Amino acid sequence: MAYDFDLYVIGAGSGGIRAARFAAGYGAKVAVAESRYLGGTCVNVGCVPKKLLVYGAHFAEDFEQASGFGWSLGEANFDWPTLIANKDREINRLNGIYRNLLVNSGVTLHEGHARLVDPHQVEINGECFTAKHILIATGGWPQIPDIPGREHAIGSNEVFFLKALPKRVLVVGGGYIAVEFAGIFHGLGAQTTLLYRGDLFLRGFDGAVRKHLQEELTKRGMDLQFNADIERIDKQADGSLKATLKDGRVLEADCVFYATGRRPMLDNLGLENTGVKLDKRGFVEVDDLYQTAESSILAIGDVIGRVQLTPVALAEGMAVARRLFKPEQYRPVDYAMIPTAVFSLPNIGTVGLSEEHAKADGHKVQVFESRFQPMKLRLTDCQERTLMKLVVDADTDKVLGCHMVGPEAGEIIQGLAIALKAGATKQHFDETIGVHPTAAEEFVTMRIPVAG
Ligand code: FAD
Ligand code: NDP
Repeated sequence: MAYDFDLYVIGAGSGGIRAARFAAGYGAKVAVAESRYLGGTCVNVGCVPKKLLVYGAHFAEDFEQASGFGWSLGEANFDWPTLIANKDREINRLNGIYRNLLVNSGVTLHEGHARLVDPHQVEINGECFTAKHILIATGGWPQIPDIPGREHAIGSNEVFFLKALPKRVLVVGGGYIAVEFAGIFHGLGAQTTLLYRGDLFLRGFDGAVRKHLQEELTKRGMDLQFNADIERIDKQADGSLKATLKDGRVLEADCVFYATGRRPMLDNLGLENTGVKLDKRGFVEVDDLYQTAESSILAIGDVIGRVQLTPVALAEGMAVARRLFKPEQYRPVDYAMIPTAVFSLPNIGTVGLSEEHAKADGHKVQVFESRFQPMKLRLTDCQERTLMKLVVDADTDKVLGCHMVGPEAGEIIQGLAIALKAGATKQHFDETIGVHPTAAEEFVTMRIPVAG
């Protein structure tokens, strides 16, 4: 049968664009449908605008520390609408770049909501198109618990478009987004409280990292409340919000921001017209080749709920394009040693296993840790300390995990990820000459394991 397209991609986000462009580059006839914004979550309401806001928030510290180096500044003033307008301008520029990338690579762009009609057919804006393969790359959506007053709360889709910086913010959640936005709000001058339902935020990260970040944020004056969760939110006559916690306490705020995870975006996608199955958590179930239960339909990225990170969606998109249209270049995505950063202030950078995870996996571990004041702060009153930690397999000497909390941790961890991917041992680290004077050199000068 002749199809309109070899590949029809639903969703022009990180994974969808990558798959579409590469497939078209390999000679396939490709269409991509997008209902909201080119570039998807990462470009529009995720990584990119978030990082710009993190940069914005960081200036507060720079201004404070500058006096130690002889600078005297007038009173610093921050204007949220300027930051948001400049951010929007940059995002518009990126949207245009993504449009050009798609068009120039020969991909047909359909703007509108796409719906599966059958295993080989997609309906969009009242028109139907057939395709040999269909790729679901529809991403995720913020999930906010259904508590009374939920309508008064915002999530990550709204936070980037607030008209004004709230004076008092409650951030709910203890994952990446909650920790990053608590840092943004706090850095920009809002009175910020982070509420997390468990004992300590960032579940799954190394214990020392979680504790260190807790201490650093507390030093900076952020109000961290663990074992705390909101039962209801009420709007008061003056427009402010009253959050009643499960333990009965009442907190007042101007904004309640939920960052309590993301669900797969499957709304009105027409999955019922196909044999696609969902897993126990509600994400699209795929095999190792991203094949769903319906043989003509594949899925990648956040909608499959494996690792919800842009570089992972990109790698999955590339793997699908190669396997379908350039099989001789196909390599499966390797999910081991994925580096990641939390752009809190200070940053977390991490790759490989946490100490807890390594032990649970049966490794006999040696742990190396360094805590120090970064050189840049020696001339200031700032008491911030950096943490670096290596988790090493005591039997093989292989470095199983590198963890850092401190300035530029995200930048530093990328290079270490290559070393770990290549199977570096502690001896390799020891034999590597440091770059002096840097914070990163500490990773190659840790000699004595901490007592076990
Ligand atoms: P998406 O990028 O979400 O793209 C899906 C696209 O599909 C969207 O554009 C959507 O509009 C479209 N779509 C959905 N349904 C339909 C339909 N029926 N028809 C047509 N189009 C449809 N990751 C990092 O690696 N680093 C970070 O710093 C980082 N920060 C983040 C910060 C925030 C606040 C958030 C929310 C996420 C962040 N992420 C980060 C995660 C990252 O954004 C996602 O992992 C990534 O965007 C997933 O890509 P994707 O292609 O699977 O989906
Ligand atoms: P996460 O899954 O990282 O964290 C969700 C948090 O919300 C957890 O602390 C969880 O608690 C808590 N939570 C879940 N449900 C509830 C509930 N009903 N009530 C109270 N708390 C709840 O999700 P995020 O929304 O922060 O981010 C989504 C994903 O996006 C991340 O996992 C990450 O993959 C990606 N991302 C990556 C970034 C980066 O690379 N820098 C930045 C931002 C996002 P518990 O731990 O107890 O389950």
